[in-house]
Amino acid sequence: MKRRIERNESLFSYFINYSQSFGTDVLVLLETMKLNEKFRLHSGDLKRIDFYPMSLFNASKITTITGLSYDDLYRSSFSNVIKTFNESTKAESSRILNKTIREKLFYCPECLKSSKSYPLVWKIETIDTCTIHKHKLNNCCGHCKETIAYQNIREVNSCPHCNKKLSEVNTNKENISKEAMEHQVWLTKNWNYLINYTGESLSNSETAIRLLYILNERQSCFNRKIIMTNRYQGRLEHLLQCARGTLQKRRSVHLSNSLATLYKMKTHAKDFLEITVPQEFIDSLHEKGIGQLAKMKACEASWCEKYGKAGELVPTGVLNTMKSGEHLSFYMVCNSCGCEYALNEEKKLVERGYFISAYKKLKNRDITSLTWPEKEKIFGLKRDRIRRVLAYFNNQNVIVNESSTWEIDAVLLERFIRAVSEGLSLKEVRYWREWQNYDQFLMHRYNPRVIRALIDFSSKQITIADDPFYKKRIESTCKKLLKEDITINIPNVALATGTSATTIRNKQCSELVGIYRERQVIVRREGRIKIMEQEIAAYFAAHSDQRIYIQKLYAVTSVDYLYLKRYAPWLLDKIEQMKLEHNEEVFASAS
Ligand SMILES: [Zn+2]
Ligand SMILES: [Zn+2]
Ligand SMILES: [Zn+2]
Repeated sequence: MKRRIERNESLFSYFINYSQSFGTDVLVLLETMKLNEKFRLHSGDLKRIDFYPMSLFNASKITTITGLSYDDLYRSSFSNVIKTFNESTKAESSRILNKTIREKLFYCPECLKSSKSYPLVWKIETIDTCTIHKHKLNNCCGHCKETIAYQNIREVNSCPHCNKKLSEVNTNKENISKEAMEHQVWLTKNWNYLINYTGESLSNSETAIRLLYILNERQSCFNRKIIMTNRYQGRLEHLLQCARGTLQKRRSVHLSNSLATLYKMKTHAKDFLEITVPQEFIDSLHEKGIGQLAKMKACEASWCEKYGKAGELVPTGVLNTMKSGEHLSFYMVCNSCGCEYALNEEKKLVERGYFISAYKKLKNRDITSLTWPEKEKIFGLKRDRIRRVLAYFNNQNVIVNESSTWEIDAVLLERFIRAVSEGLSLKEVRYWREWQNYDQFLMHRYNPRVIRALIDFSSKQITIADDPFYKKRIESTCKKLLKEDITINIPNVALATGTSATTIRNKQCSELVGIYRERQVIVRREGRIKIMEQEIAAYFAAHSDQRIYIQKLYAVTSVDYLYLKRYAPWLLDKIEQMKLEHNEEVFASAS
């Protein structure tokens, strides 16, 4: 006898009805469809049915036995919701629904009169009203006043304590304000939409970006003030980190926070799932903070005409690098004096070159009569750099050092400027035959007009950084590496694409590579957990008639307790459960 599942009915309710029509206990029925043969189902598992049934049952067995379709399985449980919002390795360890699902029955007696089924939404903590009959759900049996745990239910519409009909009790008479009713109607509608939604899934970062965009009142530039006034229910910093992908630990956005935001911002879940966030908004999320800080900085070279004038530094990249133990980002250059800067971890301006520090040493000292080793000691710089410093300051007319002064050759200078404006590298210019020696080249290289031409050229490069064709190439390489399980990092992607690491960074594709690297970490982790799972099953099979000690299992297999504790705690529970049942069986057959 096949029974159809009712619209909005939970899978749990369906199984209860189904087993009852055969006169068997629901656990006996479920035993025939379970996924793990070694794992005996118990009442505690009943609450997992509606969460993610595929982690507990063999879906094809369910469909064959009951006639339910896969689609039925998905939309009578939270599977679709989890698939839409969950990024973690195992759907069943998803945390987006933490503290959202009830373990006790809330019900509407009126509804039970017309349909012998428990809708899935009655399990949702925030839903406390029947929006059809317009009154609050009952939370205990109206006859014996006991609360009813789902795991004790063996018959729909019957109290497991007193066996009386729940459809016969009085409805909850508590008053409901108009606002509360509106909220309940919205929640019920939206939850049902999500439960039935089978479209694309969102990554944690995408979910966070969309929420922020909605909180930003859909303006294309991130505005912290607007977002603050709309008050996100969870921690805003966490949401921002999630959106930027800068969270240390992988954490997802809790669904109840998402829904609270959508309700407040009058956005239906359908709209949320279909929204397209403008790239401009996403970019503004990433660089605005540091970009604005950078704009407030000024050139620190005391000889420069832009010294102390904020907002004149030219950004040259947002690279993140380490330099003598310091984390540097957001590179800038002064296009008047050519000094290069970056922001350190505390977002303070630091010199990337060495002119300012050399200036402090050169200012009150005559170094003409010193030997090279003596100069190197004073400056803390190699000989080549000291020659550059001298050429630079000669040019700036700040400190003229007779020994390295060369007349500027007007023709050569023009040629030099033209060459760098066209993108010729300094290395190539360096080997022009016309140079009589290295110092003469340096004297021209640090001419203020050459410095400016170099900066102009590199900032032009920055503005054409957004190259969708290039981005596509990088992305397809990443996909290929992911498929072939070759480690994804910038050098490898550069090699495989036939480009350079610097170009990947300059064209702002390093984040893209980062996204794929993270995906790879997840895929590899899943693989490792799967292998452990197989080893565990094999170990149990090989010791079918012996008592099992978990310590021994860890010792002889690659199963790693700490690793599982961190990434798959559900598997630890499962091992424990398997061990208990296994040992019980062994004990029973021995005695
Ligand atoms: Zn009702
Ligand atoms: Zn009762
Ligand atoms: Zn300057």
